[in-house]
Amino acid sequence: IRTQGRVIYDADKIPIRMLGTIMDITEEKNEQQRKDEFMGIVTHELKTPLTSVKGFAQFLHQRAVQAEDNTSAVLLQKMVSQINKLNLLVQDLLDVTRMEGGKMKFQNIEFNFNELIYEVVEQISITTSKKIIIQDKAWNGSIIGDRERTGQVLTNLLTNAIKYSPDADKVIISLTSTKDKAICSVTDFGIGIAKENQQYVFERFYRETEAHVTTFPGLGLGLYISAEIIKRQNGKIWMKSEKGKGSVFSFSLPINN
Ligand code: ADP
Repeated sequence: IRTQGRVIYDADKIPIRMLGTIMDITEEKNEQQRKDEFMGIVTHELKTPLTSVKGFAQFLHQRAVQAEDNTSAVLLQKMVSQINKLNLLVQDLLDVTRMEGGKMKFQNIEFNFNELIYEVVEQISITTSKKIIIQDKAWNGSIIGDRERTGQVLTNLLTNAIKYSPDADKVIISLTSTKDKAICSVTDFGIGIAKENQQYVFERFYRETEAHVTTFPGLGLGLYISAEIIKRQNGKIWMKSEKGKGSVFSFSLPINN
């Protein structure tokens, strides 16, 4: 802040007023920091009204169901699911802002990996007609980490697998282990990713082609956030893919021995 001022006197030399300017010397502030602060404020401001609009829509949906007004019930249900999508996008923006400002908090608790997988699959099953096959016979153990954030990674990988395989009828999620780590993989039989683009998929705002922007909505943040969450828990994330055939996204986390 830089200030400048001047005192105005009346005819008897008595000070009657002070004129001044206060300047914010923003140019000295780091450009990136300003952008991050701005993103943080905008996403916060978006979140609050979204939460109340969702509450109203849910309330009206219930009323329509009670009144057996099917047309309104269907439309209001669609409205809730669109608000949910918008919420996820805003949440991703908020997460990126937090991550880059070093403000994303991680819990360190012991949890059962299988239970988490079943929980996430149950939630996602409601939103898709595809079959989500769980292959988890090989290992049933616990890890230490952030349960909610790990669930967020599973959700991201599964929703991508579903989104990017419009013509397939199933996706597979599997859990195995080695001596010291648990490995979770999500396999889809969808559009795949061209070899030359695979190196970029975990980057911020990366989306494979222009066509994606219209065919498959998204911001290109899910994998970037997922990679950061896994790294912060001392794990690894990677992918294999073949254009036109499908993809396998995997991550590993240390086992609690
Ligand atoms: P979004 O899905 O919102 O674009 P992501 O960060 O989750 O963002 O993914 C980045 C990009 O990686 C996507 O735009 C898409 O091009 C590609 N991608 C991610 N998952 C898959 C998948 N399962 N199959 C094909 N392409 C994928």
